[in-house]
Amino acid sequence: MSDNTLSPRPAVNRLVPYSPGKPIEETKREFGLTDVIKLGSNENALGPSPKAVEAMKSALGELNLYPDGAAFTLKNALSERFGLPAGCITIGNGSDELIHYLGIAYLREGDNIVQGDPSFVRYESAAVLNDTECVKVPLKNLTYDLETMADAVNERTRMVFVCNPNNPTGTINTKAEVERLMDRVPDSALIVLDEAYCEYVGSPQYPDSIQYVKDGRNVIVLRTFSKIYGIAGLRVGYGLARPDIIRAVEQVREPFNVNSLAQVGATAALSDTEHLQRSASNNTEGKKAFYAAFEAMGLPYAPSEANFVFVDVKRDCRPVYMALLRKGVIVRTGDIFGLPTYLRVTIGTPEENQRFLSELKAILAA
Ligand code: PMP
Repeated sequence: MSDNTLSPRPAVNRLVPYSPGKPIEETKREFGLTDVIKLGSNENALGPSPKAVEAMKSALGELNLYPDGAAFTLKNALSERFGLPAGCITIGNGSDELIHYLGIAYLREGDNIVQGDPSFVRYESAAVLNDTECVKVPLKNLTYDLETMADAVNERTRMVFVCNPNNPTGTINTKAEVERLMDRVPDSALIVLDEAYCEYVGSPQYPDSIQYVKDGRNVIVLRTFSKIYGIAGLRVGYGLARPDIIRAVEQVREPFNVNSLAQVGATAALSDTEHLQRSASNNTEGKKAFYAAFEAMGLPYAPSEANFVFVDVKRDCRPVYMALLRKGVIVRTGDIFGLPTYLRVTIGTPEENQRFLSELKAILAA
């Protein structure tokens, strides 16, 4: 008798569940705390864009209606912002969803993707789900090594992921490095430029990836409203690419993937330059405070172009993480990224940063 029991596709069992940052409420319950801060998920410590909050309040009365599946208003706002036609834009329920869609749209069994390691974990999930190999190229000096990644590309490579700035290290690849990669990767592979943290970048060497889309290159640029815009809870990300690439994603997109409040909120957040500038300067100041304290404590760190810093606590990070948790400070451990002496810490408000730094200092001195 043939085995006809119900079971998922083998790829489903190979997926490693995403391990999210620890939630504030759970930490309060577990440790009997009332005052917990979260510097573990690279969220915006200053809160959501106030313009987004206002706009959503006035949209509440229309929640009986389905959202605009084409996200017309948000796409128009992005189109104006970047000088790209709406046909070069797709909107996702977070950029996470767009990574998932890219996998469904492009990956065939036996293909491979190439990515840096350690990096954002969702690229590998897209590969595993689609019976595709994930080729991980180690970072060099905590930075994506695009030359070695280009060497790793072969005729089966369908996507090359570049996380820029990289999560968890905060480092960037320069315009020259990205352009050399684009020149070396054959047209059979799509280069995915994941720029979730781009609005925080200060380096003049950072690539102008929108220009690559305008030039019709084989790239898709992924960005998000979850980071500097401060609306991670709404789940909105977007992809910018040539119309043929956007069409492939749109073919597999859920018809109402982005809810109506999210569309309204994101459209308003996009024009909230005041909130954006405040968030960027809070980040710059916070990074300075982190760097100064880490240097005083003798802890190596990767200079970051994002809203988090990857710091080497020079001992097993798990007990340090646990001790911080007991003090009500949530950060992220480096062991999940294969670097077990590191912590990834999101820049918070000045008060949150000071609280984290003084707790860390006390824990390391104990
Ligand atoms: N890319 C990177 C590099 C990220 O760090 C994140 C969020 N942690 C995402 C994509 C996904 O962001 P979202 O789905 O919230 O848009």
